[in-house]
Amino acid sequence: MLSNSPLLQVENVSKTFRVQGKKLHAIENVSFTLEAEKTLGIVGESGSGKSTLGRMVLRLLESDKGKIIFDGMDLSKIKKKHLRELRQQMQIIFQDPKASLNPRMTVYDAIEDAMVIHKIGTKASRRARVLELLERVGLPDEVQYAYPHELSGGQLQRVGIARALSLNPKMIICDEPVSALDVSIQVQVIQLLKDLQKEFNLTYIFISHNLAVVEYLSDEIAVLYLGEVVEQAPAHELFKKPTHPYTQVLLSSILKIPESPEKKQKMTSIQGEIPSPLNPPNGCTFHPRCPFATEICVSVKPEQRKVSEGHFAVCHLVE
Ligand code: SF4
Repeated sequence: MLSNSPLLQVENVSKTFRVQGKKLHAIENVSFTLEAEKTLGIVGESGSGKSTLGRMVLRLLESDKGKIIFDGMDLSKIKKKHLRELRQQMQIIFQDPKASLNPRMTVYDAIEDAMVIHKIGTKASRRARVLELLERVGLPDEVQYAYPHELSGGQLQRVGIARALSLNPKMIICDEPVSALDVSIQVQVIQLLKDLQKEFNLTYIFISHNLAVVEYLSDEIAVLYLGEVVEQAPAHELFKKPTHPYTQVLLSSILKIPESPEKKQKMTSIQGEIPSPLNPPNGCTFHPRCPFATEICVSVKPEQRKVSEGHFAVCHLVE
């Protein structure tokens, strides 16, 4: 990597799908940079395009336009046959670890698998690595013999994390990694991810529908609505001064991660449904749900406006 350049640069990427003969704009002109060993939180409701964006960064989905540069390499120029080497550097942790694990493979085989595919180490060194990773993610040795259906959700997610770490990646995309877990387990897994980041110098993209979940881990947060980043800022700034009405609504409806499992707070949900990306509203796409919408919001699409250094929002209200 070139010194002083970010590990990841995403420049104006877009992705459309053809659905029922119509164009579905899943991602529209998204840009961001991510420094090594930092975390970008990507937040939005289901249907906002955040998982699509994660898959575009991994090149599991091809961008229609724009550029993604990882570690100095333009991903669009990398031939498919070299993608395997690249995937060593970029791993993903899924929301549903059970679905992402082969039910017929033991935990040991699941963690060793990627190293076998990438021809890393000897049988003995891989064995040592699997046992080391199990210990590092807080699982006892005996778990190596278990099959996915024998483990709890929290244990499965720890296996998913161990598997992602097995290739020594630089970056991990965490796609809603705790949303299927109980709140007390969420706290443990988030703390584990934070500790591992420090220990292994990891860079994270942390995707979640819950701002409270990304708050603890993120250095920077991008808020996604119908495939567009509507606000982006350093995490502390976004929580201090949420500017886009959508961010404000998300913040008011978050389920705060309690300091202890007993301290649960009541979650309130955001009003209205996210519109269909097959038929997005004119003007500001948030206007049907926005409590501050005026006439201009219905007809004119707002541009990105600077709130302060490193903080922007896409809203007519920003002076
Ligand atoms: Fe609300 Fe208008 Fe701002 Fe959109 S542009 S978020 S509708 S105030």
